[in-house]
Amino acid sequence: MRNPRYDILFQPLAIGPLTAKNRFYQVPHCNGGGYRDPSAAAAMRGMKAEGGWGVIFTEQTEMHHTSEITPFIELRLWEDKDIPSIAKMADAMKTHGALAGIQLAYSGINGPNMYTKEVPLAPSALPIRTFTNDPVQARAMDKADIKNLRRWFVNAAKRSKRAGFDLICLYGAHGFGIFQHFLSRATNQRTDEYGGSLENRSRFAREVVADMRDAVGDTMALTMRVSLDETIGELGFSNAEVRDFISMNAELPDLWDLAMGTWEDCSGPSRFKEEAAQEAWVTGIRELSPRPVVGVGRFTSPDVMARMITSGRLDFIGCARPSIADPFIPRKIDEGRVEDIRECIGCNICITGDMTQGMGRCTQNPTWMEEWRRGWHPEKIATKGQSDNVLIVGSGPAGLEAARAAALRGYDVAVAEAREEFGGRVARERLLPGLSAWGRVADYRLFQLKQRPNVQLYPGSRLTADEVLEFGFQHVCVATGSAWRADGVARQHVVALPMDPALPIFTPDDLMTGRLPKGRVVIFDDDHYYMGGVLAELCAQQGCTVTLVTPSAFVSDWTANTLEQRAIHRRLASLGVTIRLNTGIAAIRAEEVETNCTYTDQRGRIGCDAVVLVTSRMSDDGLYLALKSREGEWADAGIRSVKVIGDAAAPAPIAWATFAGHRYARELDEPDWGDALPFRREVTLLED
Ligand code: ADP
Ligand code: SF4
Repeated sequence: MRNPRYDILFQPLAIGPLTAKNRFYQVPHCNGGGYRDPSAAAAMRGMKAEGGWGVIFTEQTEMHHTSEITPFIELRLWEDKDIPSIAKMADAMKTHGALAGIQLAYSGINGPNMYTKEVPLAPSALPIRTFTNDPVQARAMDKADIKNLRRWFVNAAKRSKRAGFDLICLYGAHGFGIFQHFLSRATNQRTDEYGGSLENRSRFAREVVADMRDAVGDTMALTMRVSLDETIGELGFSNAEVRDFISMNAELPDLWDLAMGTWEDCSGPSRFKEEAAQEAWVTGIRELSPRPVVGVGRFTSPDVMARMITSGRLDFIGCARPSIADPFIPRKIDEGRVEDIRECIGCNICITGDMTQGMGRCTQNPTWMEEWRRGWHPEKIATKGQSDNVLIVGSGPAGLEAARAAALRGYDVAVAEAREEFGGRVARERLLPGLSAWGRVADYRLFQLKQRPNVQLYPGSRLTADEVLEFGFQHVCVATGSAWRADGVARQHVVALPMDPALPIFTPDDLMTGRLPKGRVVIFDDDHYYMGGVLAELCAQQGCTVTLVTPSAFVSDWTANTLEQRAIHRRLASLGVTIRLNTGIAAIRAEEVETNCTYTDQRGRIGCDAVVLVTSRMSDDGLYLALKSREGEWADAGIRSVKVIGDAAAPAPIAWATFAGHRYARELDEPDWGDALPFRREVTLLED
């Protein structure tokens, strides 16, 4: 039973010649699978269709071989041969009455062409602007090139139509699409009729849309995706110019798709961006054009979504990450189950699939990108096998997800947690600066567990091997987590770091449980994900004088993959944290640390009152090893299996733990994989 407050989200609305069944619009998003894993990517989109989205888009599709962004794995539509694999995606999108959209990208100044070896083409001759500072420059397009590119867009539109798509999104946002490169004075320094005035800079967009309308506009809708502000000041395509552009070309596309800044700006993590962070930038734009407007803002709250529409800010609610964390948001709202929404936590782990060319992962939705590979459905799971009960030891992300999924299968589940509160690491990490939304990992699962009669939760229960053997559960899942090391072992030091016990040493666990350093603090980050930067922020907030020392060339190096590295550096700099890059710690003495340059080994000293070691973690696998050593007693105790999962098996980010928990529950009572590959894989057919 839907709450009438949300009726507005389910009103159909026309986009050009088509009608979307509701206002839920999955904007284009990458996933790491792309052209390498077309069936996996197609099944993932199909899940959004089942979940009730009205419009579903592909990731960016490289529409011509003269512009590609290797090493990033997106879709390709370079020739007719590419049609079947993207047609599979279009078919999956349309299974439940959604409109299927394809995003066509010509990457221009953003495409280094590492694979095709073509000379990049852009409005003006400038170095390629990517994440990787490739030593490649683009050639400025001449009139013949512009004519060719217009034709290539038409060819791509015709192929998109043959593949079965309903909508085409022309990519001109995030600095990634050629339309922005023409629109922005920063990347368009031409002196001909395509450069100079905004009228001239818009010419290319107008011409392409007109060409495409002639070719496919009778049946397909054309949308244009631009950033609300290029975020590089007046020289860039600013919010004021975006408004002028939309006013001047009010009826150009069938829908305006409004993204923000660079990809980092648009997909800001919850640590730096609130829900609906773009509201001020988008306000008023809808009045400039008769065309509908979609905008994003990591929307997970149905009330915020409804407000965006009733207040006249947006016509469609654009979602990428929220639709990954919960592909069933529309259906849950429609069925009056808003409390079942698995809210995105804004951690940006989903983006690391693309950034590392791995397979997409989601912290909240461990089935993401496993819909085809492993046949995992985010809402459905096979009923239980022959056995009946399972004891989960530990209630971190791994234990809670194992419990949730096993309970859904119908097992009797008991969760024993040593502490008084459930949630494991997220119960503590959610208290750190900027990480409160991460608590949703525990909140969602605890709420689900509390609804079920077949689940017992035992707080304050630190179990021993004797107790586990006494209880006699058929399956025991050890998800006891890990603890931060205090001996400095990580990458620089593979054996303990020399330390004078006179200097107080802290670990992240100390800080998270309220034992805080004072005075001059050195934070040694040899972990390189978020923790070092977050603790530097915490210590600075507490009034400490903080120096962050890291052997890496960047603060919180790995967060480049979650698009927050620059924001972290900016924040630490603004808090007055001294940042020492390319620097290790060779020894800890009574009143100082001895540093070493990672290139020359030149030594230095930093006087300090305390050191925080953010190095690595040690699995808390004592219970597992004790049970393992008593395997002979399992049968008498009625135990059929004992497994260790999550950080207790090997420490990793939270998404690894929820995946491990989910996998555990799925595989309970299933035959062992043995030597077989535990997922399906797409293998390229060889050409003759
Ligand atoms: P993961 O990320 O793998 O889920 P966490 O560290 O977040 O791991 O959670 C592990 C949880 O297990 C912690 O809350 C910890 O208190 C709990 N735990 C550890 N040992 C025991 C034990 N012997 N009995 C019950 N709970 C335990
Ligand atoms: Fe949201 Fe994190 Fe999942 Fe991405 S990985 S969808 S940011 S919860």
